[in-house]
Amino acid sequence: MEGLGYPDKSRLLQWYDEFSRPLPWRENPEPWSVLLSEFILQQTKMEVGVGYWERMIARFPTLLDMASSSLDEVMEIWQGCGYYARARNLHALSIIIASRNPPILPSDPNELQKLPGIGPYTAAAIASISFEIPISVVDGNVRRVYSRLNALENPKPSVVKTWAQSCLDYNRPGDWNQAVMELGATICTPRKPRCEDCPISSSCSALLTSDPTMFPLSKRRVSKKILGHALVINSPEGVVLSRRKGSQLGGLWGVPISEDPNGLESLCSKHDVESPIKVGEIRHAFSHRDFNLQVWRIDVMKGGIPSGSVPISRLDQKILDAAGCGEL
Ligand code: SF4
Repeated sequence: MEGLGYPDKSRLLQWYDEFSRPLPWRENPEPWSVLLSEFILQQTKMEVGVGYWERMIARFPTLLDMASSSLDEVMEIWQGCGYYARARNLHALSIIIASRNPPILPSDPNELQKLPGIGPYTAAAIASISFEIPISVVDGNVRRVYSRLNALENPKPSVVKTWAQSCLDYNRPGDWNQAVMELGATICTPRKPRCEDCPISSSCSALLTSDPTMFPLSKRRVSKKILGHALVINSPEGVVLSRRKGSQLGGLWGVPISEDPNGLESLCSKHDVESPIKVGEIRHAFSHRDFNLQVWRIDVMKGGIPSGSVPISRLDQKILDAAGCGEL
């Protein structure tokens, strides 16, 4: 088996007690607030995620509050946070739990994984942090800490999982999991690890090499470039908007878009308009897709809805602003 270097547990927990970030859900890690934080942080950075968590918990203090709200009300708060499948799953999950007797989240990681939007990582995080179930979590931070402790370039996921479970602290599983992740997020960071401040440096093999950042080897993400067109059909009643589909923006509303650089003509004929005027160009980057859209506007006599009446994405807000229709 690949390396099995273990950190000094008591030193890492002591460091966590003293230096961990005072995140709001850590004060009282009850299941709903931890679940909300995990959903938000799945694909959103901490600096941004805390604000979304605060707005979500203020609007939906309990799971039952969300279950009795509409999907649009959830989307309204989630707007701008991206990966809207998370918000849809959250809403669906709240309705499932609310229909049970008693309406409470299960503590068993296997049961948690049967709920929408909860995979092995999220299930283990909720079970350990909120219910003190002794199950380890594995995320990118845990993998990096493991790789560096053992100076391994590309450890297999199964090996990282075995390591994480074997060094789990059974008395404080939730804090232990958070301590390893916190170390990876704040000290053992991908590009500039602060080894001089690291509480487990004495067990680190990467520190003995010329460059700890070589571990693990990074897989560079390549974004797909999308060149296309956005069509703003504007009338005194509002703008033509429809509900988007797909995991990234599904559930939000948006203007007609073509992801084909030669797709303007078919976009116009599909919406029965002719000769729109080019009013600008916008760029918007998602994690795997870079949009570069020509924005076209055409004024018609009637149709559409006020853009402020439905939840829309940042991409669409940029398009509407470019067309001068962002404030309807
Ligand atoms: S000593 Fe440096 S490389 Fe090793 S675990 Fe600590 S921060 Fe990471």
